[in-house]
Formats: sequence, C-alpha cells, structure tokens
Amino acid sequence: MKRLLAAMVVLGTAALTSGAHESATDAKKPLPPVLDPAAIDHSVEPCADFYQYACGAWLKANPVPPDQSDWWRFSELDEHIRAVLASILEEAAAGKGAKSEDRSKIGDYYASCLDETAIEAKGLKPFAPELERIAALKDKKELAGEVVRLHLLGAEPMFFFSSTQDYTDGTMMIAEADQDGFALPDRDYYLTDAYQGERADYRLHLVRMFGLSGDGTKQAKAEAEATMRIETALAKAAMGVVERRAPKNIHHKMTLAEFAKLAPSFDWTAYLAAVGAPTFASLDVVDPGFFKGLETSLKSFSLDDWKAYLRWTLIDGLVSAAPKAFVDQDFAFFGKRLDGQKEIEARWKRCVDATDDQLGDALGQAYVERAFSHEAKARVLAMMREIARAMEADIKSLPWMSDTTKARALEKLANVDFKVGYPEKWIDYSKLEIVRGDALGNTERASGFDVKRELAKIGKPVDRGEWSMTVSTDNSYYDEQLTDIYFPAGVLQPPNFDVAADDAANYGNLAALIGHELTHGFDDEGRHYDAEGNLKDWWTKKNAKAFEARARGLVREYDAFVAVKSRSGRAKDVHVDGKLTLGENTADNGGLRLAYVAFLAMQGNKVGKDAHGYTPVQRFFLSFAQGWCENHTEAFAKEDAKTNPHAPGKYRVNGVLVNMEAFREAFACKVGTPMAPAKLNRVW
Ligand SMILES: [Zn+2]
Repeated sequence: MKRLLAAMVVLGTAALTSGAHESATDAKKPLPPVLDPAAIDHSVEPCADFYQYACGAWLKANPVPPDQSDWWRFSELDEHIRAVLASILEEAAAGKGAKSEDRSKIGDYYASCLDETAIEAKGLKPFAPELERIAALKDKKELAGEVVRLHLLGAEPMFFFSSTQDYTDGTMMIAEADQDGFALPDRDYYLTDAYQGERADYRLHLVRMFGLSGDGTKQAKAEAEATMRIETALAKAAMGVVERRAPKNIHHKMTLAEFAKLAPSFDWTAYLAAVGAPTFASLDVVDPGFFKGLETSLKSFSLDDWKAYLRWTLIDGLVSAAPKAFVDQDFAFFGKRLDGQKEIEARWKRCVDATDDQLGDALGQAYVERAFSHEAKARVLAMMREIARAMEADIKSLPWMSDTTKARALEKLANVDFKVGYPEKWIDYSKLEIVRGDALGNTERASGFDVKRELAKIGKPVDRGEWSMTVSTDNSYYDEQLTDIYFPAGVLQPPNFDVAADDAANYGNLAALIGHELTHGFDDEGRHYDAEGNLKDWWTKKNAKAFEARARGLVREYDAFVAVKSRSGRAKDVHVDGKLTLGENTADNGGLRLAYVAFLAMQGNKVGKDAHGYTPVQRFFLSFAQGWCENHTEAFAKEDAKTNPHAPGKYRVNGVLVNMEAFREAFACKVGTPMAPAKLNRVW
C-alpha cells in the first residue's frame, strides 16, 4: 500500500494555533469503527456502484477539511496518531514524563520548530553563510564542493546520492546515484502542454521566492528563468514515473570510473571525499541517461545560472525553518496551487511530522510505549500466516504456471518475513546534536546525520532489521529487495483493524492489506526479483508471457477509469494511468482474493445476518470498500493521477470487485450490471 503522498512536507505557519489544546482534543476522540453501517448510502444500488453504496453517506459527512487536499478513511486515524505524537512531544518539550537523551532531543527539536517568534526574529540570517558561499563561487569546477554541502544540509540539487541493497547480491549494500534536482512533482510538469498553467505559476513562485530572499525584481526574474532552464533540462534527462517501474530500467551496476565518465565536468572525487562516503569500486546508477544529461547541463549553463539554481534549492529545501513569508509563499504554490488545499496545516501538525521525519526512531519508541497493543500484534501475525497459506494454495493451483516457476514462486513466498509493530533495533541518535532554539541548525544537522548514516552502509552487509517507515505511520509496505512485508504499529488500529471487531470486518480491511503487500512480491515489478531479492529472471518464457497478457487486461481496465472529469468541452478528462498503477492494482486485486479465501477458511458464511441484515460475506466486502472512502480536491486528483502509483479510492474498490465472482454472488449482481461485467480480469 506504500501510498506516496505527492505533497511536500511543508513547515511554516499561517496562524498561530494553540497546539497543545487542539492535539489533546484530537487524541481523545474515539476512532471510527472498521465497518460503519452509518457510512452506507442506501439510495444507491450495490450492483450499480458499490463504492458509492458503501461510502456514500461517509462521503457526504466528510468533506475535505480546509487544511487538507485529500481526506480518506486513513486520514481519521492519521489525525489521531498525530495528536498522540503531539502529546508525547509536548511532554518531552516541557521536561515531563520519562527522561532520556532521546526524549530531550525530540522535545528540543519540536519546541524549536514551534518557536516561530525566534525563527521570525532571526529572519534570513541563519541562511546567510550558505548563500554567501554560493555567491562566492568562481568557477563551475567548484560546484561539486557546494552541491555536497547542500546535500548534507538537506537540500536536493542536481542528483541523489546514497546507498542501496545490491541487486546482484542481496546480502550487501552498495552506493547508489539517482536523478533529482527539480522541484515540480514529475518531469512532465516541465515538458507537456497539460501542465502549462502549473508551469507559469511555478515561474511566478520562483520570482517571489527570490524576491523574498532580497533580490530586486529584475534580478529575481532572471534567477527564476535560470532556475527554470536548469530544472527543465534535468527533467528532460530524467526518467518518467512509468519508465521507472521496470526494474531493468532502474538498476545499472558500473565501476566508479565508468560512472564518473557519464558526467566528467562534475568533480566526483571532491564530492565523494567531502560527503564522507567509504571508498567503493562500483555502484548502482539508477539512471545513467540522467547523468549524461547532467553533463550537457553543466557544459551549457553559465556559472551564474547554476548559482541562481543552488540558491533556490537551498531555500526550497529548508523552507520549513525560514520566516513566515517564505513558508506562506511555499504553501501558496505547492499546497494551494498544486493540491487545492485551502489552508496551511497548523504549525504543531507540521512540527510533529518534521520530528517524525527527522527523529523517527526516538519518537517511535515513545509512541510504541504509549500506544502499541501486543494483543493486536499476535492477531495480525496469525492473520499473516493464514494469508500466506492462502497464497501458497493459490500458486499451487494456477493452471497457467509451470511446476518449475511454481517451485520458485513458493520458495520466494516462504522467504517473506512478517514485520509487525516496530523494529527490533532503533537508530542511535547519540551523535546527533539538537539545540533548543536553533530550528534551521537542527533540521540541517538531522539531514546530515541521515545522509551520513545511509552512506556508512556502503560495502557493509544488509541490515535486515531496519525499517523504511516510522512506527507510528498509518501505512504498510512490501520491500521488493528485502522481500519482507512491514506493518507498523500505527496501521494496526481502527478503522483498519480492531481486536474487538468481527472477522468479516478485519479480514475485509487489514487482511486485504496484508494480501496486498504479499502480492507485491509477484506484481509486474516484484516478480523480477528472486527469493533473495536479486534481480534475476526466475520465470519460464511461457509463464512470463502468460503473466504479461493477464497484466495487460488490468492495464486496459484501469486506463478506462476517469480520475478528473473535464468541466469544459475544451479540456480532456484525466484518466487513471493503467501502467503507472498496474503494480498496486495487481496487489489490490490479489490481496482481496487472498483475504477472502482466508476468511472463508476461518468461518465460512455460517454465522447468520447482522443487525442490519448483512451476511458475513457481505460485511467482508463492505469493510473492504469502506477502507477506501475518499474525498479530494480536483487539483489533488490531477496531481495524484500523474504521480501516485495507486488508483483513486473509488477504483481501488470498484476496479477490484468487478473482477470477483464471490462479490457478485454475495450481492446478487446480474451479469451486465455495472458491478458485474461479462469479462473478468485476473492476474493472481
Ligand atoms: Zn501497494
């Protein structure tokens, strides 16, 4: 479910709110039930539009709040978790509760982030030394020295450099270089007609941000144009989101010498020495074409152009700790213009997110102590084993798969580890300095700490105990190289799961999510990795062809769905991208099937109807559908359709249920009704 939220984490403020008071109220609000009969719209026929039937009343009662661009059932739990985290942070900031070095650090970080008066009083002064360094660059050869400084401070110019699991030897970590360095959500925003409006407004945003930094109108305009030229060139050289879905497109192991030759104008020796990476002989270059493009850009743009660009990446990357005028302008473009969000989130919400982002394991430990249920963990682990058994039976029964491929698939399935709740080992922050009152310094040092921590892994064995999501996150993921599934403490709560709810409700929701993550190991991306997480083709040619033919059916199905309906004759409808969302749709479809098999094995349809007249199987499908009730702004939907590998909520429900015989039977949908088309698609 690795839901990618396209909006940037923006810190700053529009209004000073009483964080303590507001968060305390939110933390006490009861969580919504897993299956909510009050969410149903009985005026809609289940066989006409099941999503509308299951969610209709909820959709009406839950408009998008002004400080959000998307409001779905996960949001209700998200807000609750944020309030719990805020109460932990408020205590830590006040020196109350459990005492430890980590507690002091999260308290100091949070308090500094909240202290807008201090941030305002300092103005742009804390940024001045770095801005002066950029201004003093004399030669393009010196760019590497500045880029490395910016990477260590948390800005993202030019490219991305870190470590990753070796795709040829899943036991080892190697260095990784990837595309980066442009701020709009996708390369197409710079290149295609569909985003002309966004581009024009982005130019204005750049001019305003340079203006706020103290540059005159003429200079600000020139700097904005230079930045636009460079970002457009980088975007042109970059791969698009759909291309990046193919594992063969994003893994290229080469020697350091071969890599350096892709962009010889950049001083890689200086960069690697200054960033503090261990020495290495080879690395995974995600996108070699991008680095060739970077070389062209380094040659063709002037030093002044690059200075303007670096200046922008510094302010943009660290805007959270800048004065209010910057934060407001940042929100006006990235929040309001791109996502259709009316108001910026309260400062305390943004500061909770920032603390979770930069000191996630320190905050996470406190969260687990306060909010994690060990009873939930035991139930969820049992559910995972049942889902895995359902998948094992399914693989064994597939008529289109040979025994050879089946044996490999079963080996891969057996290798999946179930990670539930929180990691066994936490990040050690003892070397990270957090200073109360120094918001910018804290975010810079935490960024540098993180970059160095990642780079230190180069050449070392893979640490299988590390997680890439913080424990309070209301989400889950499958790691295609570690081949494990992860369900953090945050997600194991209502409305996703409730130890007190019936099996129909829990299997329709959380078990389907477990099935979803497990299916990712066998979707159009995951299937290319073997049981050890190596990129190795383990499929017979014939079986691979059969898989692809099935996948094409899903691509066609989802391509037909409309994400944003055009309101005028001139503009086109924005469709769901069947190729971009193929992996998630495969996982959604496969996941619900597995959950259904496990549910039937558990209790069948034996138990009678509930107080509302629903059978257990009907409750199972209602619970599934209600997990994806979602309202969003139109702007959000447009951006989401371009960048989010998940389909919108409506199609995560209807797109799956139209393919399930068991659903039609449960609600007596006749073939030919919208929820029961003649053709069913099935990958897994
Ligand atoms: Zn997923």
